Amino acid sequence: MPSHRTRPWGRVAAVAVTSTLLVSVAAGTASAAPATPKSPIAVGYLGAVSSIDADATAIGTKVLREGGNAVDAAVATAAALGVTDPFSAGVGGGGFFVYYDARSGKVSTLDGRETAPKTANENLFVENGAAIPFDQAVTSGLGVGIPGTPATWQDALRKWGTQPLSKIIKPAEKLAKNGFTVDKTFHDQIANNAVRFAAFPSTRSLYLPGGAPPVVGTKFANPDLGATYDKLAAEGTSALYRGPIGADIARTVQHPPVDPASTLNVRPGNLTTGDLAAYKTIERTPTHTQYRGLDVYGMPAPSSGGLTVGEALNILENVDVSKLSKADYLHYFMESTRLAFADRNRWIGDPAFVDVPAKELLSQRFADTRACLINPAKAGTSPVAPADPRNPVPCAAGTTGAPTPYEGENTTHLTTSDRWGNVVAYTLTIEQEGGSGIVVPGRGFLLNNELTDFSFTPVTPGVPDPNLPGSGKRPRSSMAPTIVLEHGKPLLAVGSPGGASIITTVLQVLLGRLDRGLTLPQAIAAPRVSQRNSAAAQVEQEFLNLPETAALRAKGQGFSTAPAEIGAATGVEKLRDGRWLAAAEPVRRGIGSAQVVLPVRFPWDE
Ligand code: GLU
Repeated sequence: MPSHRTRPWGRVAAVAVTSTLLVSVAAGTASAAPATPKSPIAVGYLGAVSSIDADATAIGTKVLREGGNAVDAAVATAAALGVTDPFSAGVGGGGFFVYYDARSGKVSTLDGRETAPKTANENLFVENGAAIPFDQAVTSGLGVGIPGTPATWQDALRKWGTQPLSKIIKPAEKLAKNGFTVDKTFHDQIANNAVRFAAFPSTRSLYLPGGAPPVVGTKFANPDLGATYDKLAAEGTSALYRGPIGADIARTVQHPPVDPASTLNVRPGNLTTGDLAAYKTIERTPTHTQYRGLDVYGMPAPSSGGLTVGEALNILENVDVSKLSKADYLHYFMESTRLAFADRNRWIGDPAFVDVPAKELLSQRFADTRACLINPAKAGTSPVAPADPRNPVPCAAGTTGAPTPYEGENTTHLTTSDRWGNVVAYTLTIEQEGGSGIVVPGRGFLLNNELTDFSFTPVTPGVPDPNLPGSGKRPRSSMAPTIVLEHGKPLLAVGSPGGASIITTVLQVLLGRLDRGLTLPQAIAAPRVSQRNSAAAQVEQEFLNLPETAALRAKGQGFSTAPAEIGAATGVEKLRDGRWLAAAEPVRRGIGSAQVVLPVRFPWDE
């Protein structure tokens, strides 16, 4: 078995950053100037931050430099992403926070998932006996869940941080008030949503000033969001859950502020101030899987991330992935997720409502019964049927397949570590790009449309669907913030956006790094394929250029090109020599941003 820690971080990786990393500064004397050039790789000491955005990463790194821990840095970075990456994340959304505590060696998680209002029932998205068209539900009050992000920030800081929210949110508040430079991603995400953004005067005036997205390279400020952050700093999150910001959220959901001239059919929702007052994050025991002697921790239900990544890893333990040819590796990878998604779709939902067989889904015995369905020479026929993990029967093919329903595809993942060895993997979202499209008037943030992650009607008629809406229920997620330990110490942490493809992206990065001899940056850069129990796997265009696709096609694997790139991963790794490696996307989503507190590169890194 190859050592997990002997690889250098790699020549390919180094090429991308030659100009930025030959720097050595003493801790505490480094310039506070945050706007270092955006670089997807950094390596050095005293902690690391990786996110999609340079300003956000710089803010998190500054928190670390000034003595904050990984949790402080994660919340500061997330708050900044609410400013610069507002179409993916913000106080109007939710997310999942996974934390490794160096002192206790324990991994904890916080579920800050958006939640359905009390009045919701399984017909939330049914009208006259039929499901509401998805493209209408996404831009509505109906799809808005009670936001969990502000509570996540406050609770994570109280449990594991060293500084209060009032301090940690300040750099992001300043960023919102003073502005930042518009990049192409920010511009394009507005352009993609221009029609529905234009339908709401509050969204239009913020993001379509003069009728068009702000020009790339110009400065963009969001004073209303600055004021919202200021209020959260001064009054705590009760300003939102029990105060005037919450009153505005409830009013906006119940009476979506749509331009009367708009032709959009924007349905109201029934989220109330009482729903907001009742919201709570939930600390949950992480999922845990052993994979080739490593301990892989992830997010349990209502996310399907940890359970599905874990089941696929267990299935893959039936072969030595490191020894397979690349075509065979990709075949096994795709088959493992084809099977794991069938089980995910059948069994995973909010555990307060559904009896999720979590322990059984993660048992090696169950995975072995699934692995034996993989034919090395032939792709499975999707939708393959789920199996019953409580009653594992070797090679049982099952009867009715459970297809994977569509999920919106945009959120953001950040990863942090600190000088004490604590690590955070945090994925946060407002669901699809732009969420509901509705900015709360006067407050500067978009409301999520996370409730559209529920099944509108049962995916397979006659088969129980664990993910139907319910009163106070949390929709199933695919978010998969993941922390991998080796002998109880952090090896790496990773995560990604991408709706249901999050699971395959995280798994592909893990396999690339742990089995296939890639460095973390190389594993993140690799062309992606996502098989989610459908006839054709989704692929990035670049994947189709791989010579292995011919062999995969010969085995019956089908491919369809994804409408856009798949995912936008970030990660950190503790290198064998004690340095942190922070890695982000080298190309996707306009390039991610990785920083360390004390950059140090050695000649042999090249
Ligand atoms: N709604 C998705 C989920 O919870 C997140 C959106 C995305 O990841 O892109 O799984």
